[in-house]
Amino acid sequence: MLDKVVIANRGEIALRVLRACHALGIKTVAVHSTADRNLKHVGMADESVCIGPPSPAESYLNVPRIIAAAEVTDAQAIHPGYGFLSENADFAERVEKSGFIFIGPTPDVIRLMGDKVEAIRAMKAAGVPCVPGSGGPLGEDIAANTKIAREIGYPVIIKAAGGGGGRGMRVVHTEAHLANAIQMTKSEAKAAFGNGEVYMEKFLENPRHVEIQVLADGQGNAIHLGERDCSMQRRHQKVVEEAPAPGITPEQRAEIGAVCVEACKRIGYRGAGTFEFLYENGRFYFIEMNTRIQVEHPVTELITGVDLVREQLLIAAGEKLSIRQEDVVLNGHSIECRINAEDPDTFMPSPGTVKRFEAPGGPGVRVDTHVYDGYRIPPNYDSMIGKLIVHGRDRETAIARMRIALSEMVVEGIKTNLPLQQRIMADGGFQAGGQNIHYLEKRMAEAREKAIGIG
Ligand code: ADP
Repeated sequence: MLDKVVIANRGEIALRVLRACHALGIKTVAVHSTADRNLKHVGMADESVCIGPPSPAESYLNVPRIIAAAEVTDAQAIHPGYGFLSENADFAERVEKSGFIFIGPTPDVIRLMGDKVEAIRAMKAAGVPCVPGSGGPLGEDIAANTKIAREIGYPVIIKAAGGGGGRGMRVVHTEAHLANAIQMTKSEAKAAFGNGEVYMEKFLENPRHVEIQVLADGQGNAIHLGERDCSMQRRHQKVVEEAPAPGITPEQRAEIGAVCVEACKRIGYRGAGTFEFLYENGRFYFIEMNTRIQVEHPVTELITGVDLVREQLLIAAGEKLSIRQEDVVLNGHSIECRINAEDPDTFMPSPGTVKRFEAPGGPGVRVDTHVYDGYRIPPNYDSMIGKLIVHGRDRETAIARMRIALSEMVVEGIKTNLPLQQRIMADGGFQAGGQNIHYLEKRMAEAREKAIGIG
């Protein structure tokens, strides 16, 4: 078993990792910026090391400092959480070369999945259904690109091979705009990701976002833990997630799950991972793989009873998967609302001091947050300050529990998106289930028009 783990992250996920470590008797080292001395997990960790100023580039992305922290504390492994360095193959490589265990896949696999063109190629070869597309990077030849787009059929989407976080994408509806869109996406991608390579896909007009959670031990064993529906999005950012996805049949789940498991075995995947798909007219289309724990992992934990972070730690310790596919039984329904420190109407971040914080409770309610009474949210990081997750015997029960939990939750002193989450839970379309990725923005636009007297 691992003896001591460095948690190279902050906020709620750092606390989540700390709890999983402590439950296994593993000691923890919290590394933090000067803005984060008061983070909850920093006080709870066995040791803590300040790794730099608030700016992420100088702290949570500061590779030498993080590795030095592992060295001085004599830790064995580094857990990267999500975001920051979690999908940085060079970091994983540096960690391993320095003699530590990276809690995640091998650097090669992270690198493969980080290049979307290569990832799609590998997934196609492994039998994973992908979006019809160029199958490779687009060249400079306009006639050749026009031909590809015609074959795929408009609308198409131009995407950056090195893109992420919903950036570096452009939808093209007509041939007249194609050449220009490719050029613009290329130069943007070069500036933003240091990689100007772009590719083309069919733009699916009304898909849902459905993703498959996997666990693999890198020793030939892999399982899937069913799917999550993350279609409630704003600007490609997930707002609400749930598991299972409404309307997905056990047969569909078993089929796409088996495809993902097979792909894991083929590429030698190790750790927790997520295959993200767009789902339209009963079919799955792979878009990318996330090679880390995800924000929305708790909904899977609540319906499967599997502690995914614990499994990450066991796999990193070299243990074989102890859960077999037939042990994975889905129970009830789970929903997660992301709680952001932001204005519910303008979405401007709202950092500051939380004057009063009260977490909801009761059966089937889980709150993953680092926030406490008097906690000051620094302005330097992501606005997500926690997650409210509920479980119930069915979707209706889960929604009812979420509505009560949201009404019980008190966060004073800053603005939060709690009112937006209340509206989503009360929305008839959400309650019906199975809405597509555009639904939330469409409903929000309608509500705005109503409020200012249009329509
Ligand atoms: P990122 O790594 O930036 O998150 P993804 O490839 O996962 O990029 O795409 C992010 C989002 O963009 C998807 O969830 C979806 O909303 C939209 N999108 C991406 N590809 C397509 C496509 N082919 N058709 C329609 N929407 C797409």
